[in-house]
Parts: sequence; C-alpha cells; structure tokens
Amino acid sequence: MTTILHIAIPCPLRLSFSYLPDKSNTHWQTGLRVKVPFRNKEVIGIIVAVTNNEKIPTSLKQVSECIDQSPIISAELLSLANWLSQYYHHPIGDVFQTLLPKKIRQGESANLQTEKYWQLIKQDSVRQEKQQAIIDLLKNESNNVSQAALYKKLGACRSSLITLEKNGLIKQQQQIKQSHHSINSSSIKKLNEEQKSCVNSVWQSNNKFNVHLLDGITGSGKTEVYIELTKQILNQDSDKQVLILIPEIGLITQFVTRFRQNLSVSIETISSSMSDSDRKQSWLLTHKGIARVLIGTRSAVFTPFKNLALIIIDEEHDASYKQQDGLKYHARNIALIRAKQANIPVLLGSATPSLESLYHVQQQRYMLLKLIKRATGASLPKVHVIDSTGPKADNGISSILYHAIETQLNLGNQILLFINRRGFAPVLMCHECNWQAVCTDCDSKMIVHQRRNTLCCHHCGLIKRLPHQCPKCQHNKLNTYGAGTEQIELSLQRYFPKIPVLRIDRDSMQKVNAFKDMIDDIRQGGPKILVGTQMLAKGHDFHDVTLVGVLDADQGLLSADFRASENLAQLIIQVTGRAGRGEKSGEVFIQTQQPQHPFWKDLIQKGYGATAEKLLIERSKIGFPPVGYLSLIRAEDKQEQLAMQFLTDVQALLSQHQQDVIVMGPVPALMEKKGGRYRAQLLLSCASRKPIHQLLDQYIEVISKMKLARKIRWSIDIDPLDLM
Ligand code: ADP
Ligand code: ZN
Ligand code: ZN
Repeated sequence: MTTILHIAIPCPLRLSFSYLPDKSNTHWQTGLRVKVPFRNKEVIGIIVAVTNNEKIPTSLKQVSECIDQSPIISAELLSLANWLSQYYHHPIGDVFQTLLPKKIRQGESANLQTEKYWQLIKQDSVRQEKQQAIIDLLKNESNNVSQAALYKKLGACRSSLITLEKNGLIKQQQQIKQSHHSINSSSIKKLNEEQKSCVNSVWQSNNKFNVHLLDGITGSGKTEVYIELTKQILNQDSDKQVLILIPEIGLITQFVTRFRQNLSVSIETISSSMSDSDRKQSWLLTHKGIARVLIGTRSAVFTPFKNLALIIIDEEHDASYKQQDGLKYHARNIALIRAKQANIPVLLGSATPSLESLYHVQQQRYMLLKLIKRATGASLPKVHVIDSTGPKADNGISSILYHAIETQLNLGNQILLFINRRGFAPVLMCHECNWQAVCTDCDSKMIVHQRRNTLCCHHCGLIKRLPHQCPKCQHNKLNTYGAGTEQIELSLQRYFPKIPVLRIDRDSMQKVNAFKDMIDDIRQGGPKILVGTQMLAKGHDFHDVTLVGVLDADQGLLSADFRASENLAQLIIQVTGRAGRGEKSGEVFIQTQQPQHPFWKDLIQKGYGATAEKLLIERSKIGFPPVGYLSLIRAEDKQEQLAMQFLTDVQALLSQHQQDVIVMGPVPALMEKKGGRYRAQLLLSCASRKPIHQLLDQYIEVISKMKLARKIRWSIDIDPLDLM
C-alpha cells in the first residue's frame, strides 16, 4: 500500500493534485500545508485528502516539505472549503486563496506573535514627568500594557521604561500579542421590554441551529440586543465564542468600543484594512479559542473557531456581504452553512431586511423578531420628498433644503448630506463642439476631481490631467454638469464659512485612522455639516444630527437592475435613520426629479415593510430571487465579440440538454466595455436551486475545455446580486 496525498494548489484547475509523501516521518493527514513542485515552481498547497493505493502511479512527484506539525486547517474549515468549491463551482485550490489569511497561505508559521508587555510592580513617586505618566497609565490598567500601546499613548519612552525597570517599579514580560481592552461599565444599558423579548426568543432556541431575523427600525437598539446575547452565550461556557459580521470597515470602531464597554473578554477584529500580520494574529487567536468575540467584515466569516456558539450578522441586507470578484461568495450564506454544520443559532439584524430573509420568514424558515420603537424614545424623523428641478440655492441643493440647513445650524445641530458620487462633477464637456470627457477603456464618463486637478474613471481607475481647453476644438472654456461630494463641500463652505464641513468619501478617507478621527470629531458635537457617500449612510449613531438630505435619489429609480428598487428603499431608510437619534427629533429631505413616482408614496407613507412586500410579489411574478434562482456565466475579453462568441457556444451546449433551467442570452453587459475589456453574460434561471447546480456540474468540465475558454476570462456567479 502506498500513501497518496491529494493536494489543493492555487491554480484555476478544478481538481486536486496527487503527490507522494516525502521520506520524513510526518503523520500525513488532511489540513496540513505542504510545499510541492508544480510546473517548474515550488508552491504551497493543502492536503485535502489522503488515500492508500495498491498501485503506485509512476508519474507522481514527491512533496518537498511539510510546513505544519499538526493540521492548521480544521476538519470544519476543510469541509467548508469543499462546500464552497462545489456550491460556487470554483477551483478548490483557489478557494483557499480566499479562505486563508495571506501569511498563512504563504506558509508562515502558525505560532502566535508575542510582544513586550509592561506591568507595574511597585507604586512609588518619581520626579520625571514621562516616568510618572507611565506609572499612571499602568496603574489604571487591570492588565499588562504592551510597549506598542505605551508608545502610542505617550510617545517613545524607552529610556524612561528602562530606568523604571532598573529601579524595580515595573517589569517586562513577553506576552501573546492581543488587542487592548478596557472595560468601562458606565454605558451599560438596561434593555427595554421589546429588546428583552428578542433576547429571550433567541435564547429559547436552546443553542440549536435556527435563524432569527431581527427587524428593528433604525435606532431601536439592535446593537444592545447583540451585546446582551453575546454576553449570555459567553457566560454559559468558558470556551464559547461569538462571530459578529458587520458590513463596513468604518463601523468596526463603533462596534468594538460598544462591545468592549460591556464585555471583559478578548475581542478581536478582522477586516481588509488590517496589516497582514495583524490579520493572521486575529485568525490564530480565534482559531485557538483565545479570542472569545470576533468582529469583522465579510471575509471574517471564514475564520476557524474552537467553539463557535452564535453568529450575528448586522445589516444583513447589505450588498457588501457579497464578494464581487474571484470567489463570488455571499457571507450571509456562508454564515448560515457554518451555523447549520455547527448546530448553533444565527441572528440576522436589519432595519431594512433583504427580500431573501423576508421571504424565508414568510416560508416559516426564519423566526421574525421586531423592534418597533427607538430605544432612546426619539420618534422617527419626518420625511419630505422635494422636486429637485424646482428653485435651487446652488448646483445640487434646492432652496427648501438650503433653508432647512440654515435653520438647523442656527440651532447648533448637525446636518448630514448624502450623495452617492464622489468627485467634483460627473460630466465635463465643451459647448462649442459637444466634446465630453469619456474613459478610453470603459463605456463611461470621466469624473472631474478638481482638488487633484484630474479626471478619473470610477470604473477602471484611469486618471488623466484635467484639461482646461477642449482637446477637440481648443475652445478655452469647458463646462461641468451635475455635482459630487467635492462640489457640495465647496459650495457649503461658501455659504456657511464659519461652519466646519466634513467630507466623508473614499477620497478623503484614504489615510489610516482618517475615518476614526472624523467620527470622533462628529461625536464632539457642535454645528457641523457632513457630506458623504454610502460610507456615511450605514449604521452610525450620531446623536446631534437632526437633518438629513439625500441630494440625488434618482440614480436608483432609473437603474435597469432588478434589485434597484430594493436597494434604493434600503438606502433611503438607512440614511433617514441617521437623523434624530438623540434627544432632538429629526427631519429628512429627499431630492428627486420624480417626486410623483409611486415608489416614494409607498416608501414614505406605507413604509419599508409594505414596499418590500410589493417588490416580493413582483419578483415572484417573474420568478426572480428570492422566489426563483439565478446564476450568471460572465465572460470578458479585450477583443470585441469574443466574450459573446464564447457564451453563444456555451448557450448552445447548455440548451441542448437542460430541461428545467431557462438559459437566457448571451447579452452584452449593461456597461459593455470596462477596463479595456468587452463583457457579456449568460443568465441561468430556475424555480429551484438544484437543476442549475446539476447543469453546471455536468458541463463545467466541457466548458473549461472549450477553445475560447482558455483564451478569454470567464467566471461563474452563483446567486448574483446584480445583473449589471
Ligand atoms: P440600532 O443598532 O438598532 O440602530 P443602537 O443599538 O445603535 O440601534 O441604539 C440606538 C441608540 O439607543 C444608541 O445610542 C443606544 O445607546 C441607545 N439604546 C439602545 N438600547 C437602549 C436602552 N435599552 N435604553 C436606553 N438607550 C438605549
Ligand atoms: Zn470643443
Ligand atoms: Zn474606465
């Protein structure tokens, strides 16, 4: 008998590769990382199966080295990887590229990082100021403080530390690097009756798999429910752990702070804004059960736990839970699969639940919990829909809104203006010859960024110098149309020169900590105007914002995508929810070119629930999700027509054999050319999930081997969020 190792290797082939063990006395098992020779290179792979065969295939190569002494990929994670590969029809080797932190993928050791921590051992007075500061800081901490944290708070203070150590006042210790936590119980809230009954309901599910949907209006205290549940679960057993997913990196600080104020356990985070080594550390701390709570954005759903006991997904409707490239997974889906495997409860929370989750409630697969009052006692803001074609104070801001802003500022309140477009203006054109700035690589316009003096394509990132003369007819005046965050910021500064205007978008938030600093600034209070994109719409709890303006709500009304109305309704309710969260009540103005559109009447008068119900009926009529199932095969190529040709071949192949699945297309993508590539798609639709998967299972090999499949880029998008 010969042992054969089946190894997942990062490459686009949909199979694992067989190797022979090396001569070491390794106990070969699944979940070990190994170095193997692969196409003249050495790569790192993961053992996904070990078999014993009677015959030795002659051509097999040997593993060059085993990296781990014991499996770093647990059986649970391995089975998740297999599920991902099957469900998303994605190569197994590539699945691990998404599943594992970079440092683990690159073969770094799985040992926890340690660092220098300081502890106070004797309280004595000292003369030197820096030394006293160190003593004060250590005195107020129940735990040892890392040197890095000391430096961060007090500046470099090495010599003072050495002196204090020499004098026997403090001592150092090498300790596992963990996020710093301190508890400040001042903010503990007594849950109201509504909140309590939600907690009890999840609690009564007895630690078994089930899904609760917490449909709670903005500001109803969902976060407090999450905290209380987490607390109860952690108290139940000393090794239980909780995973909390949030949609946006910008919300992490707020969440972590609120959890730390209420829980004295180790809380770690995972998000794409972390360094690779911090990310690895959080991953390992969770894996080993040291971190009891993990708070993170979508990729945190892949973190291995020692004893995961509850998963909470905040703003479960949010599109950012879906990864749009590579392995196109949906974190909510993965969370549900993991919970089912581990037989633990899941809590989904939102003020605007996805149609998916509402449908599951209708089908009695999820339990519905409701919070219908704001926890602070505040009422929901009054909403006005105003005609943006009416009188204007300035480009982008109507007179009505302008006066409302003025009134609120005079009262010392904060204003939040939302516009989903960064930059100065979306259009630059010449009046003489009608020239327009368009991207050479995409079917889209270039956006004017005045501050940086550039034109920028928001689809492919192409940047050009801002022309001041028409490139076509040399006319020396170019006009801009429409407004983005940068322009709104400038005009507000002009109107209200004494009021700070904060712009919050991807351009202004590039620096590390910029977002956190901005949030701290907002929380300081005082009259301020916040101008921002999506980043600002979600989740934040600012108590001094009394007026919210949505400057351009029409993008969503005009979009051709099947989820556009759902997304717009969610966005409007979320932004609206940022107003009047504190003691003062709030007001909302929505500017639209179509104030008479029935969408507004439904949403404003009848509410999100009624809008969602109506949308669900429409979806059900056309058999679209969540009532039916979709998958897309996407293709793109630099050469025009090749993507369409490939998909036409695929369509011919699939149509021959399938029965239940409707194959539609191929059609060019809505924005056909993007980043220099022409894109097309083929849509598969079916009333149930299984036939689509069977069809893909059956044909994916054949498709992979088609001549064009090797020439162009193509991918499969299971349960696509949009068809753009
Ligand atoms: P949501 O997550 O539903 O938007 P939050 O949990 O952020 O709501 O709560 C909104 C505000 O209400 C927060 O400022 C929070 O501190 C406060 N709050 C929540 N629960 C209570 C409670 N039981 N008593 C008093 N204030 C509460
Ligand atoms: Zn011109
Ligand atoms: Zn472009």
